[in-house]
Amino acid sequence: MSNESLANLMKEERRFAPPADLAADANVKAVAYERAGADRLGFWAEQAKRLTWDTEPTQTLDWTNAPFAKWFADGKLNVAYNCVDRHVENGLGDRVAIHFEGEPGDTRAITYAELQREVSKAANALTSLGVEAGDRVAIYLPMIPETVIAMLACARLGAPHSVVFGGFSADALATRINDADARVVITADGGYRRGKPSALKPAVDEALTKPGTENVRNVLVVRRTGQDTAWMEGRDVWWHELVDQQSDQHTPQAFDAEHPLFILYTSGTTGKPKGILHTTGGYLTQVSYTHHAVFDLKPETDVYWCTADVGWVTGHSYITYGPLSNGATEVLYEGTPDTPHQGRWWEIVQKYGVTILYTAPTAIRASMKWGDDIPAKFDLSSLRVLGSVGEPINPEAWIWYRKHIGGDRTPVVDTWWQTETGGIMLSPLPGVTTAKPGSAQVPLPGIAATVVDDDANEVPDGAGGYLVLTEPWPSMLRTIWGDDQRYLDTYWSRFEGKYFAGDGAKKDEDGDIWLLGRVDDVMLVSGHNISTTEVESALVSHPKVAEAAVVGATDPQTTQAICAFVILRGGVEQDEALVNELRAHVAQSLGPIAKPKRILPVAELPKTRSGKIMRRLLRDVAENRDLGDVSTLTDSSVMELIQTQLPSAP
Ligand code: ATP
Ligand code: MG
Repeated sequence: MSNESLANLMKEERRFAPPADLAADANVKAVAYERAGADRLGFWAEQAKRLTWDTEPTQTLDWTNAPFAKWFADGKLNVAYNCVDRHVENGLGDRVAIHFEGEPGDTRAITYAELQREVSKAANALTSLGVEAGDRVAIYLPMIPETVIAMLACARLGAPHSVVFGGFSADALATRINDADARVVITADGGYRRGKPSALKPAVDEALTKPGTENVRNVLVVRRTGQDTAWMEGRDVWWHELVDQQSDQHTPQAFDAEHPLFILYTSGTTGKPKGILHTTGGYLTQVSYTHHAVFDLKPETDVYWCTADVGWVTGHSYITYGPLSNGATEVLYEGTPDTPHQGRWWEIVQKYGVTILYTAPTAIRASMKWGDDIPAKFDLSSLRVLGSVGEPINPEAWIWYRKHIGGDRTPVVDTWWQTETGGIMLSPLPGVTTAKPGSAQVPLPGIAATVVDDDANEVPDGAGGYLVLTEPWPSMLRTIWGDDQRYLDTYWSRFEGKYFAGDGAKKDEDGDIWLLGRVDDVMLVSGHNISTTEVESALVSHPKVAEAAVVGATDPQTTQAICAFVILRGGVEQDEALVNELRAHVAQSLGPIAKPKRILPVAELPKTRSGKIMRRLLRDVAENRDLGDVSTLTDSSVMELIQTQLPSAP
């Protein structure tokens, strides 16, 4: 990026104050910012009291070996005990922890007491397979209760898990097994996706033929679909045979606060995935606090639903560890949003009376494309807080979400964070913040973030630059697994003493933060740095556009030229006139400098398995290059489709 900061082109004037009743009864009020501002470490030490420790920590942060942090280092605790057993001991054993909804419509309600028995049995089963504290366990499962049970069983034993998204290929799985040197793999025969069983076990069998996976002793297989499954005697073990025969009693052992909890690979949006290491005490403190604060969770009455896959960090922090540490009742859904019909999610909200919904912009934009009439058929009046994560949410998508899902009543919290940050970092608070559509706005209490220019100076209000975190936080990554140097190079070398997030951002006139897309994606047009997010949001604000992805392609006159790929809303015809209309619309919203040189209507956009647009592949297409790493792409045929739809390369 050049010396000129990101242009601050977009103006968004709509404002939404918190509902009065929510504000009056909010878990976290404005005073939390003052408290944390006055004594950040004292604030986090207080939040650590949310957890039950076997040995209470007396230290908060040890930053003497910066940027390798230790939080609550002399404390000891067991994560699974905190997420399950203590709720049973507190008399909440009959509360439903998980309402499971399978894609074919099978359901299961699991209480905290039952979860305790299941996690204990699974921990005993893993022990019988020789799993000890410190051993890595790979988890490659669909979205079923056993996935959460398996994660908690690993945590209970102090065996770090590495969850690999169930849609990844054998190669991607093998790379991750190898990198973490896993000893056991937990998988299933298959899961249900798009109305039919989709096999998982064959990918494990294939992965285990690849070099670097020899240390895997056993494969523990959940029977979900009942489909035929190849079997390797001595290595493969059925979950229902091994786990079900175990004792449902298991005494959790306390581990050091810095004991590794899991390794998780990033989405691979910008390149080769990184194996992010998270530990125990600080991680659980922050995910528990942020889940309580950002969603205003009232565990006695709320029904919480996070639609993310557990193979993604959002599933780790806001399906498994945050909600369960808080004693929440939550929905777990196996399948896709449009099976067997495009109203499936809204039907689930109605059925379980979901009060808090946490999802991603990609899903919201898909619903916008399918039409307003679909959610309108369901009773969504139970909802009281809506959340978004994963990408910048275009203001129009934010407004649509609030209006058509939230009945024009609910706060929408746009939460910015990363696999690396472990927990939410920037977000409005639903009972405090007057929300601005499209902005993550402010660091949470206890978090220090700002926007800096190329020389690491904080930019003034109204200017753009790079998002940085200026103080360590409890759920921060501890390193990249096995590669301390890459940890230093990736996050801590760009600006001295500051964590470089890799995202562009701006501060508005009130000092609120807006995310502007990946630094790698920022466009340089005739000497101006232009944000992909702002141009995309301008396109999505046109009534005929459902989704847009914008890239800068090399151009002899202007350095880069803006090239936009758009998905039109249902029923819209594409023609030359429409393309001109869209270009004029962007020029009018943002100024002539941001007018795309080319606009290409397409049927689909390339996305990662976590639903994010992979602009780098579109840039490869726009510049006529071979495609880069596509291993985490949802559907590789999308790229072929786009290439055939291109009239001719620039
Ligand atoms: P990789 O690091 O391998 O390229 P990734 O960055 O997509 O993959 P994740 O950790 O899943 O992997 O995603 C974090 C990124 O997602 C953030 O850095 C940011 O770019 C984007 N993001 C997440 N939430 C938001 C949000 N609310 N607003 C804007 N961007 C967001
Ligand atoms: Mg990233």
